[in-house]
Amino acid sequence: MNCPEHSTTLIEKPVLYGYITPEQDTSGYLLGGCVVRQDSPEFGYECPIDKAVFYLKDGKLVKEEAEE
Ligand SMILES: [Zn+2]
Repeated sequence: MNCPEHSTTLIEKPVLYGYITPEQDTSGYLLGGCVVRQDSPEFGYECPIDKAVFYLKDGKLVKEEAEE
């Protein structure tokens, strides 16, 4: 799986959902937010260059949209 923007190999990481306490070690995880939806992915892919996060959607890599 390569980054569509940098062609580097993306790092697969499990996604953590729910409330994260400050003591919790989240290195090695992607943060998925508080709400788990039915289509929430279990794994995401992080670009080692700009830390952009991608998810597989219908077999295609989709860049994570900034929420808020
Ligand atoms: Zn990239």
